[in-house]
Amino acid sequence: MGALASVDATNESGKRDIIVSRNPATSEVLGEVRESTPAEIRDAVSRARGAQAEWGALSVKDRCTRVGRFRDLIVARAEELCALIAAETGKTRGEALSMEVMIIADLATYFVKRGPRILAPEPISLHLLKNRGSYLHFAPRGVVGIISPWNFPFGIATGEIIMALIAGNAVVQKPSEVTPLIALKTKELFDASGMPTELLQVVPGRGAAGAALIDSGIDYCVFTGSTATGRKVGAACGERLIPCALELGGKAPAIVCADADVDRTAKALVWGAFANQGQVCVSVERVYAHQAVHDELVQKIVAEVDKLRPGEDTGSMTWERQTEIVEERIDSAVKQGAKVRTGGKRRADKGLAFAPTVLTDCRHEMDVMKKEIFGPVMPIMKVRDEEEAVKLANDSTLGLMAYVFTGDKKKGQRLAERIESGTTMVNDCLLTFGAPETPWAGVKQSGVGLTHSDRGLQDLCQTRHVNYDRIALKKELWWYPYSDKLYKQTLKMMRWIFR
Ligand code: NDP
Repeated sequence: MGALASVDATNESGKRDIIVSRNPATSEVLGEVRESTPAEIRDAVSRARGAQAEWGALSVKDRCTRVGRFRDLIVARAEELCALIAAETGKTRGEALSMEVMIIADLATYFVKRGPRILAPEPISLHLLKNRGSYLHFAPRGVVGIISPWNFPFGIATGEIIMALIAGNAVVQKPSEVTPLIALKTKELFDASGMPTELLQVVPGRGAAGAALIDSGIDYCVFTGSTATGRKVGAACGERLIPCALELGGKAPAIVCADADVDRTAKALVWGAFANQGQVCVSVERVYAHQAVHDELVQKIVAEVDKLRPGEDTGSMTWERQTEIVEERIDSAVKQGAKVRTGGKRRADKGLAFAPTVLTDCRHEMDVMKKEIFGPVMPIMKVRDEEEAVKLANDSTLGLMAYVFTGDKKKGQRLAERIESGTTMVNDCLLTFGAPETPWAGVKQSGVGLTHSDRGLQDLCQTRHVNYDRIALKKELWWYPYSDKLYKQTLKMMRWIFR
């Protein structure tokens, strides 16, 4: 099976590499996919380029109408998608719907409706040269390579695919080896919706396939994944001068002020830390709780966690390696004095299911507070005051998302502006990935460039500038021939303008 099933080719080592996709909750084999070879990836890029020529020549409105049909099919076949997402990732069906499929239905609707306006030529008013006009226009880049992770295998990749298509590009997607079937299902729906089939190509494979994609002549790369891989991707793109957006890891701090609504904060943090088993780049990864509310907050958080129903509210981790990282982080924190208030281990009953874990007595220098966990662990540290919390929140190489909880909205915004983070939310968690009009971008080592938002759509285009004559003069003042008279006139004019 697989997008390239009909291509009879071997990889560099002469073997046909097979990726086996399993349900992490049950270990059931869901399917097998053959890894694409570098030659197949090059061929996929070239076929995508062929299809892009016609697609990019359509008006934005026509492209939006056709992408709208793809959206309609996603909505119509949502249950089938949710079932596969849940099976391949281990997340709950509810999270597959609300955190992936619904978000894409909304993102597609937003950009299908507004695409023509966002990509319309943008006039620039010239402050001095009033006889001339300028405008920006947004031309498709060509073939966009999308390299995507396994944690939201549908929600992340499909959002980027839809935006790239509306911008007039073709797409070649390299999904994570952990979740190839969802990418192939998306491709199946794409084809069934009547979109030009060569316009979206899926090249399943491991890391090497991602590297091969960057080396296959793409014009732009959208990478979502870890900071370590992002660095390699950025270097590979840099060598080839391919512009790219890198959406990388996070270590989201949550600052809980003394005046926070402790009930709401506890509920928000529990959702923010444990949704999708904490395998979210913007999961609450460290809590700095003001000493005045720390004890009450911990008690309420633990009570909320103990209400979570396995299977209904929490699913399974997606793969073994990530589960081992979670265990390493917990073990090392406990060795350094952290206390496990609830959870702390795998649930015996079910595959890779891991009990939501709350750690207290954490100190900022522990790995659990410094390194990305990417699992269902909420480490909590008591702080003296908000100043200490802001300082510790900013003491990180990462800056994707941050949270502030306070009863004072203005103070919340003031604190938010001081946090070195792509986005800071006041009194809520995670949500802005589902608000397509807002930018999705990290600062520091959490990323380069951005996705989502009007600017994210424009970034998927080449921004080109046209400068034209509004009033044509016989000759411009500064053209040849130069003369002493011209020099004096220019000097006089300059002194008059900049008087
Ligand atoms: P990885 O960096 O391991 O992988 C991301 C993608 O890159 C996968 O498709 C992977 O393939 C591929 N890849 C691996 N090596 C290379 C290479 N040398 N060149 C090109 N592509 C390569 O990340 P994960 O999939 O494990 O995702 C988890 C990470 O992603 C976390 O750090 C998380 O914070 C981050 N993330 C960031 C988001 C954001 O928006 N900022 C959103 C979601 C996750 P394969 O899987 O087959 O190895």
